[in-house]
Amino acid sequence: MSIQQLMWATAYIKDGHTLSDSLVYAMSELGELSDEIMIVEGKSDREAGVDGVVGEAVDVIVCMLDIIHKADPTVCENDIVNIAKAKIKKWQSKAGA
Ligand SMILES: [Mg+2]
Repeated sequence: MSIQQLMWATAYIKDGHTLSDSLVYAMSELGELSDEIMIVEGKSDREAGVDGVVGEAVDVIVCMLDIIHKADPTVCENDIVNIAKAKIKKWQSKAGA
């Protein structure tokens, strides 16, 4: 399954969720990701979850794909890659890479 298909798949979730609902869910997933990273870095005594850092990061990505598709259904995988490339290039230039 491609990123494009994952994005389309979120559109088939017919539970009436809105952009803000997706954002709130994403924030919750970011909290779960934060917990997992704190555990991995030894900054938390909690037990690691089944999903771990990678699974929680994917949860966040899925939420972001849903938000992107909801915000603009015409956006395709290639658009996302091109936008990401520009963002990474900017990050690299700021980091002196
Ligand atoms: Mg999660």
